[in-house]
Amino acid sequence: MFSSKLLRRLYTGYAAIILISMLIVGILLTRQLSENSLTTIQNSLYARAELLAEIAKDSLKGPPSVAINNNLQARLAALEIGTESRLTAISIDGRIIADSWEQSETTDNYLQRPEIIAAMDSGTGITSRYSQTLQQMMIYHATTVTSDDQVVGYVRVAIPQTGVDVQLVQLRLIILLSLGIVVIAALTLGLYFAKRFINPLLRITETSEAISQGDYSRRVRVEQQDEMGSLASAINRMAEGSAQRMTDITLERNRLTNMFAGMVEGVIDVDQHQSIVHINQVAADLLGLSVASCIQEPIWEKVRFSEILTALEETLNTRKIVKAQMRRPSVEDDQVVDIYAAALHNEDQESTGAIIVLHDISELDHLERIRRDFVANASHELKTPITAIRGLSETIITDTKMQKDVRRDFIEKIHKQSLRLSSLVTDLMTISRLESDHLENSFESFDFVGLVQSSINASAEIFQEKQLDLSLDLPDEPLMIKGEIQAINQLIYNLIDNATKYTETGGSVNIGLRIEQDKALFTVEDSGIGISPQLQQRIFERFYRVDKARSRELGGTGLGLSIVKNITEQHGGSVSVESQLGRGSTFSILLPLD
Ligand code: ADP
Repeated sequence: MFSSKLLRRLYTGYAAIILISMLIVGILLTRQLSENSLTTIQNSLYARAELLAEIAKDSLKGPPSVAINNNLQARLAALEIGTESRLTAISIDGRIIADSWEQSETTDNYLQRPEIIAAMDSGTGITSRYSQTLQQMMIYHATTVTSDDQVVGYVRVAIPQTGVDVQLVQLRLIILLSLGIVVIAALTLGLYFAKRFINPLLRITETSEAISQGDYSRRVRVEQQDEMGSLASAINRMAEGSAQRMTDITLERNRLTNMFAGMVEGVIDVDQHQSIVHINQVAADLLGLSVASCIQEPIWEKVRFSEILTALEETLNTRKIVKAQMRRPSVEDDQVVDIYAAALHNEDQESTGAIIVLHDISELDHLERIRRDFVANASHELKTPITAIRGLSETIITDTKMQKDVRRDFIEKIHKQSLRLSSLVTDLMTISRLESDHLENSFESFDFVGLVQSSINASAEIFQEKQLDLSLDLPDEPLMIKGEIQAINQLIYNLIDNATKYTETGGSVNIGLRIEQDKALFTVEDSGIGISPQLQQRIFERFYRVDKARSRELGGTGLGLSIVKNITEQHGGSVSVESQLGRGSTFSILLPLD
């Protein structure tokens, strides 16, 4: 019956008020009606006693008689009929001279009866007591009988108490019944009105609950034009507003999530208790974590890098953006991560957490290191011939008596060093051009076979000088590729130059060009000194030389193969080497066809 707590509370209060007020009304009504009915009975007894006094007056006048006055007795008996009352006349000395119920004489003295004593005092007396004679509760009303202002006797009217009690009980029953009906009617009506009042409220509550749980399509039916109706309309407006706000928030959140996910930087968002609210995949990968396992977890339990935790602590304490760096040493390249931590706060300047941005600069760091090494190596390489030239030239200048052949030897050495310097500067300029220019801009279609052929022709002298057995394996048809002619020419030259440099006199060199896997495969094979397997990848590094002195002697700079690799990669190709120490090497270049 009471599906709602509010209805139960409201109705219980209402029922309690009804019951208490009805109880009070009942008690007051019963008491008042009892008093009224007693007064009526007393008035009736009084009237009857007065009447009786008049009737008995004559018989009581004169000297008191011991005998029953039969005449009076007969009259009292006649008067009593139908009234259920006992009428008694008592002489001044307390003896009954006539009684409507008691026919026989009695020797009892009635002056001691409480009602007679009271009548003696004030003219009338009323009592309610148990009658030994009649064996029941009776109400007695006595009054003095006077004649010429002289008390001549007493009359008494008695009625059984039971009659009065029955009347009172009936009266109470009627009151109880009436009040019962009123209570039932009031409770029923109360329940009806309470439900009428509560039902719209229940509907509003149910709808509000649904809205609060995200069902923004729910609306309350507005039926009334009163405050309840206004409340329903307000709830509907709130639902519409919430739906709109929710859409905006969802859009905003998705935008943020996508932004987070799409960022190249790792981002960690922590709340004021340092629990992780968001972490993007980049950050999770950087820290070796999984996104799902981190959410809502304290950052210090998940992230073990002290640099991050210290930066977070510092930004939370100082509210300044903190920049730090962490470096994880590795056998290959160190992992270097820049850390930016910024505290967040609301309009009241209360801390709401912090954002940590992780920027993996390992690649940058690696490039920076290469650049530093390159500058150091280049300076060192340049310094060697310059120092030699300077020393030799100074000696020539200061030693005026230097013998001619020694001087010639010195000048030849200076020439050799200047050639070395020249090729170093040329190679450095080539590297600089390859790194700064966008080669693709000057790509053109050309015949690879023709270019290889002209490069071989240009090196014909050196083949002859070293008596190298040159064999060619070139296609008869032109083989078109797309690229920068000057760069590819440099590539061919460097490989042929190396083959001639690192092959002993009388050795053999084979130059081949063919199509393989839809690509142009250019190979330079020699029967030279070869390269040990563990060094085969290192020879493509800048300034790396297996035998420094030998390379220098042969006019090498240590940059040739790194230039080859750079050019190949810029043309979308690849370079590889197969070599056996003491037996020769084969360098292969794969370039895409036009
Ligand atoms: P370099 O100017 O010294 O020749 P490169 O970059 O062209 O510089 O070559 C790097 C190193 O690789 C050389 O110093 C040499 O030790 C080795 N190398 C290159 N080509 C050959 C080859 N055909 N046979 C054997 N070793 C080679």
